[in-house]
Amino acid sequence: MPVSVVIGAQWGDEGKGKVVDLLAPQVDVVARYQGGANAGHTIMWGDETFVLHLIPSGIFHDGTSCVIGNGVVIDPAAIVEEIRQIEALGYPVEDRLKISHNAHLIMPYHKALDQARERWRDAEAIGTTGRGIGPAYVDKFARSGIRVVDLLDRDGLRKKLTAAIEEKNDILSAVYGSERLDVDAIVDEYVEFDQLIDPYVTDTSAFLNDALAQGQSVLAEGAQGALLDVDHGTYPYVTSSHPTSGGACTGLGIPPTAIDRIIGIVKAYSTRVGNGPFPTELTDETGDWLRAEGHEFGATTGRPRRCGWLDLVALNYTSRLNGFTELAITKLDVMAGLDEIQVCTAYEIDGKTTTRFPTDLRTLSRARPVYETLPGFSGDMKEAATVADLPKAAQSYLQFVSDHLNVPITTIGTGPKREQTLVAA
Ligand code: GDP
Repeated sequence: MPVSVVIGAQWGDEGKGKVVDLLAPQVDVVARYQGGANAGHTIMWGDETFVLHLIPSGIFHDGTSCVIGNGVVIDPAAIVEEIRQIEALGYPVEDRLKISHNAHLIMPYHKALDQARERWRDAEAIGTTGRGIGPAYVDKFARSGIRVVDLLDRDGLRKKLTAAIEEKNDILSAVYGSERLDVDAIVDEYVEFDQLIDPYVTDTSAFLNDALAQGQSVLAEGAQGALLDVDHGTYPYVTSSHPTSGGACTGLGIPPTAIDRIIGIVKAYSTRVGNGPFPTELTDETGDWLRAEGHEFGATTGRPRRCGWLDLVALNYTSRLNGFTELAITKLDVMAGLDEIQVCTAYEIDGKTTTRFPTDLRTLSRARPVYETLPGFSGDMKEAATVADLPKAAQSYLQFVSDHLNVPITTIGTGPKREQTLVAA
């Protein structure tokens, strides 16, 4: 098993953290390949809960190396703080965490720009987390970004940062009417990161390819979800990176031929944070009920998530896009208590029925879901030891999804804890 990739199959928050945490003991390396600290992966075991924003979930397993790949954008202050928190819990980080020398950095001006742009967009705001991820990727592609490797060169960094802050200050004040940032304070703060980051910095593409050559296995951990991919998602209401299986190759510097397992993580219903089209959204009491039962509030921002029925049109699309070889269905337990479950199997757009997911926003916003109604199920499934212990209607629901997508379901989440997971025989 060389490389397995875990992908959120919907709009993020599918429960990837728990699945990665379960698979981590079986692999040698866990690697993040895109996004930044806008991801919030919740891991619960016993009575402990920890939300990881940047460091891969494998950090809690002895003997697992963790990589933050070149495709990730890193807030140096956030990563240093996350390392400190994990060490405070008694888990060693040095020697186990590798940070790509080529990863781009998120600077205070990226956060200022992110928030200023969202205010400026007003009603058209994308609903970003305001953490500077998008503007950091903009600088990366504009070839004016600052990378991890630059942090290790104090004098060079001082020069680059000063120029970058001065340029961004002009934009912040002239375009958005925002306050200018204090150049000296930022430069003084960031040149201090060299020694803090240095022990972790390496050529992670070489590290990963060496590990693969030695027969080690790698788990690539996607953040967000495939419907938020900057190319293939519901643009412009997307993230600024590629949370898809292709993104794992470019974001880590590994070849596609190394990947042999692509696990789509599917929440048993749908949720979405922020703005953008969501055909199966429920704005009624069933939506409120799902939000309350599923604790659908953002792990990073606390924002309430929009909730709705499972959308097999969208899932067929992300399955094709990523090449899912298997599915993990999470939060099945949350749906217990509904008399009936609706599943969207097609869209009606301008009087025509289609099973193809339109990625252009104007068409998608006219899509009306066509539902099949399945019997609901009830009862506490947290104690189920095998799939056969699940209520029959719950098993039928899973079968319906698997048949429709033509992908086997190998893992089923029956509760928030690590132990509350069934692995299909
Ligand atoms: P991620 O970003 O995809 O890792 O998702 P989050 O961590 O933001 O959200 C997942 C939330 O659902 C966390 O609070 C998990 O503890 C919880 N969770 C994961 N799997 C299950 C499950 O099968 N059942 C229930 N009830 N909660 C789950």
